[in-house]
Amino acid sequence: MKVLHTDCLVIGGGFAGSSYALYAAREGLNVALLSLGGALEANSDWAQGGIIYDTSPDPELLTRDILEASDGTANQAAVRQLVTEGPAAVRELLLDELQVGFDRNSEGALELTREGGHSARRIIHARDRTGHAILSAVARRVDATSRVTRHMNSVAIDLLTLSHNNDNPEDRYAPLTCFGAYALLDGYPEPVAIVAKKTVLACGGLGQIYQHSTNHPGIVGHGVAMAYRVGARLIDLEYVQFHPTVFYGKNAPRFLITEALRGEGAVLVNLQGEPFMDKVHARGSLAPRDIVSRAIHEELSNSGEPCVYLDLGELDRGRLPDRFPTVYERCLEHGVDITRDPIPVVPAAHYSCGGVHTDLDGRTNIRHLGAIGETACTGLHGANRLASTSLLECLTGARSTARADARDIAAMDFRLPEPRPWLSPPEQSDPTLIHQDLDLVQQTMWNYAGIVRSQRRLTRARRILLELREEIQSFYRDCRVTRELVELRNAVQTALLVVHAASLNPRSKGAHYVIDE
Ligand SMILES: Cc1cc2nc3c(=O)[nH]c(=O)nc-3n(C[C@H](O)[C@H](O)[C@H](O)COP(=O)(O)OP(=O)(O)OC[C@H]3O[C@@H](n4cnc5c(N)ncnc54)[C@H](O)[C@@H]3O)c2cc1C
Repeated sequence: MKVLHTDCLVIGGGFAGSSYALYAAREGLNVALLSLGGALEANSDWAQGGIIYDTSPDPELLTRDILEASDGTANQAAVRQLVTEGPAAVRELLLDELQVGFDRNSEGALELTREGGHSARRIIHARDRTGHAILSAVARRVDATSRVTRHMNSVAIDLLTLSHNNDNPEDRYAPLTCFGAYALLDGYPEPVAIVAKKTVLACGGLGQIYQHSTNHPGIVGHGVAMAYRVGARLIDLEYVQFHPTVFYGKNAPRFLITEALRGEGAVLVNLQGEPFMDKVHARGSLAPRDIVSRAIHEELSNSGEPCVYLDLGELDRGRLPDRFPTVYERCLEHGVDITRDPIPVVPAAHYSCGGVHTDLDGRTNIRHLGAIGETACTGLHGANRLASTSLLECLTGARSTARADARDIAAMDFRLPEPRPWLSPPEQSDPTLIHQDLDLVQQTMWNYAGIVRSQRRLTRARRILLELREEIQSFYRDCRVTRELVELRNAVQTALLVVHAASLNPRSKGAHYVIDE
């Protein structure tokens, strides 16, 4: 088996992982950066709305908005870190250094928008392609950084721990310690071991364990599943945020309709054109996401209609193609002209508020294993995330974690062992079985562990998923590993963990809503 060595192994090349790679390289560390696809194939690239930047004149207002969106459950220390460190990190890296082309007004000042749950305009954006503008700038800088080695079209399979993956008998009794991962790397015929002083999970969220999702294909909770298998603490997994407005067309793919449209005045209406959010929440269509998603769910259950509509009546229609080019172009592809028509929308799984538990420097309960970005859970979002906080969390988390890791590595006394070789089984996997099983995971989660939950539905989900996990495990043991197989194995595991967390929490809070409380 081929064994590669590095200081930091970063699993995930979205905004969190790529920023970490830059910061770690500046600390003099060598980094191996893995991603499932190309450098820009990540949820980060798809972020439309923007990133929080301008917290003047009152940063405390942002603290209050985050706490309110979380229904009072967010970890105040994590909120404080974001509010105090976030805007400075945006200024230093994105504005001053990388000069990301955020929109500006005619006087050259940054244009500010707002989204659901925000009581002030404080979000900067690059039209509705903010994530692309940010990630491509960061990725270019990563590619120009000699200490970072990229492995694209590659998949991490499992983490290496002292107690499980090396033959030194004494290490069986050592504290849980990570020293890298097995991975299927582009250009290598067999899995390799990447041995690292620090391993950082930056694998994004888990939206694709649901049938309807805004997430990139493959984002099925890889980080959560890998962390679970080595005994990492997971937290708040029941809090899956559903985005209220995703394009609905009978045979059309789901894609996000940014909340910034509602921030600019668009209103949710039913088939009859009646607004229905004003009677639900004082902020109407701009209420926190969980409230809007449930109100739409209820509206659809009562009417039997497949979707509701976003009425753009109050907006300057002529400006829409320029301000929201992604939404304009994608809707037009599917027969909806937003300069004229309302947009048909439904909710879809969007963001995992929970994940691998970490402190504010990205440390998990496993030594030398960190987590950042959407994979991690510092408690910043509590039971429900405030819009546009996640890109900022990726950046602040990456910065503090890379700096802390550099200090840890400098003080490190532990010997990196030789990992056990990977043994490849002979059989080839069958893609038809993989697709069918993934469909079943996604449908089960959508129907039984979605926007509205009950103990009976969750019990049903658990039964189906447990049986499926057995099948998939035996399939995994017998077949040569492929990216698709790794994805399926992690999807069913993550789905079970979400269902388990949801069934242990009988109380509705934020994004977790149970009808039989
Ligand atoms: C459509 C959409 C719009 C959004 N809009 C906004 C917004 O306007 N503002 C905001 O703040 N947030 C927004 N969000 C949320 C935000 O984009 C994400 O939370 C954030 O980008 C997550 O970044 P990340 O780096 O943690 O993960 P991602 O960007 O998802 O990157 C994950 C990376 O991990 C890699 N990976 C995963 N598993 C493995 C594995 N096993 N092996 C190797 N690589 C692996 C993937 O290939 C990818 O490179 C939006 C999300 C979506 C989906």
